[in-house]
Order: sequence, then structure tokens, then C-alpha cells
Amino acid sequence: MKNTNLKLAIQKNGRLTEDAVNFLRSAGLQFENYKQKLFSSCRNFPLEIVYVRDDDIPDYVESGAVDLGIVGQNILNESNKDVKNIMNLNFGICSLSIAIPENSDVKVVKQLINARIFTSYPNSTKKYFKKKNIPVNIIVVSGSVEITPALGIADAIVDLVATGRTLALNDLRIIEKIYDSQAILITGSKNNLSEEKQILMQKLINRFKKVLSGISSLPVEKLII
Ligand code: ATP
Ligand code: ZN
Repeated sequence: MKNTNLKLAIQKNGRLTEDAVNFLRSAGLQFENYKQKLFSSCRNFPLEIVYVRDDDIPDYVESGAVDLGIVGQNILNESNKDVKNIMNLNFGICSLSIAIPENSDVKVVKQLINARIFTSYPNSTKKYFKKKNIPVNIIVVSGSVEITPALGIADAIVDLVATGRTLALNDLRIIEKIYDSQAILITGSKNNLSEEKQILMQKLINRFKKVLSGISSLPVEKLII
């Protein structure tokens, strides 16, 4: 990995991976198959793409270990890192929502007073219920949150929802949305980039903007690598 190159972190293996790779390729960046690698060097731009767990991306960006990252807005909302959103990327669209069992008597959030709420997003959940002045018991689990109502341990869950299919499969329904989320491009708030790197970053951002506005000037054959 060349240190003078820009570094961009994306999720190694998850819901954002394929869309992030496609997005970068549609901006004309050429790089090898990412699946077995920890990083790829772009062939046609001084950029290293680094593959990591999505939860680690804000830390790496904040500390300057990488210059840029692609991550769900939800991860930032939950972790409060000192990074800034350069642009929304229009994929990874989902929402953090409160869901209850299909057959629950609860109709409005207020009725969740003292409820047991399972989530992987304790900070966002705490903040939401505090603002609404509703005391609840928040229990943190790292995954498969949707199963907890069926196990009889949760009255409600707070989880990311995209299509709602997983909720429906688990006999759950949404009663409230806490926030919307999508993939975003982030950079450190206090990064001290060299002038060369700043120029490179601006070039890259300009390309990304073109892709997003649908006026990428790149020839089509470059889009399919
Ligand atoms: P990692 O192993 O990298 O920690 P993960 O299991 O935490 O992965 P994924 O489930 O792959 O994360 O989700 C990555 C991101 O995809 C989420 O943080 C969110 O921004 C976005 N996303 C979009 N739709 C959904 C959905 N239905 N459920 C969960 N995440 C979604
Ligand atoms: Zn994660």
C-alpha cells in the first residue's frame, strides 16, 4: 500500500459492500476483485480501497488512518464520531425503526412505558425515548434482534429496516421510525491532508458527484470492469 495514495475504507463483507464497489467502479475507478483481499490499489487513480468492518470505519476516518470512508449514516448517529458527511450516496437506504409483535395491543409509542426494548442501537434508542419522556428498559444485543419478541424477552425492538420483509417474516410491524439512513461518504473533521492529497480528494469527490447526478462523463465501457 502506497502511503502517498488516498485511502478509502468500505465495508468488507456486508450489505453495503456490493453497492459501494459498484459505485466506485461507476466513477471509473479500476481495481481488482475485492473478495479475498484486505485492500486493493486502483490501477488508474492513486487510491487504496481498504476493506474493514463497517463499525470500525468512523474510527479509522476520525484518526486519519484512512482519508475517506463509506458507511451507513446510522453508524455515525449511534457512535458520534468527529467526522463529516461529504455527501449522501443514495444506496444502503434504510431506517432505524421501532417494531412490535403483529398481535401486540400497543398502538402508539407512549404505550411502551417500561417496555423491554431489544436493540443493537442503544444510544439512538435511549436518545429517542428520553426526548419523548418515555421510560423504557433498553437491552443490547449484537444481532438477530428480530427474534427477541418471539422468545418472549422483548416487548419491542429497535432495528434497521429496509424492505420490512424480515420484520414481516418474524410477525413484527413498525410503529414508529426513529430516523432515516443511507450510505454516506465521510472524512475526518480535523484531517491534516497534504496539498497533493487535498487535490486528489477533490478530484475524486467531483467524480462521485457526477455519478450521483447521473452525468458521469466516463465512457460506458469503463463502467464495466
Ligand atoms: P459488519 O460485519 O461489517 O459489522 P454488519 O452486520 O454490522 O456488518 P450489515 O448488516 O452488512 O452490517 O449492514 C451494513 C449497513 O447496511 C447498515 O449499517 C445499514 O447502513 C445498511 N442497511 C441497509 N439496509 C439494511 C437492513 N435492512 N438491515 C441492516 N442494515 C441495512
Ligand atoms: Zn457492523
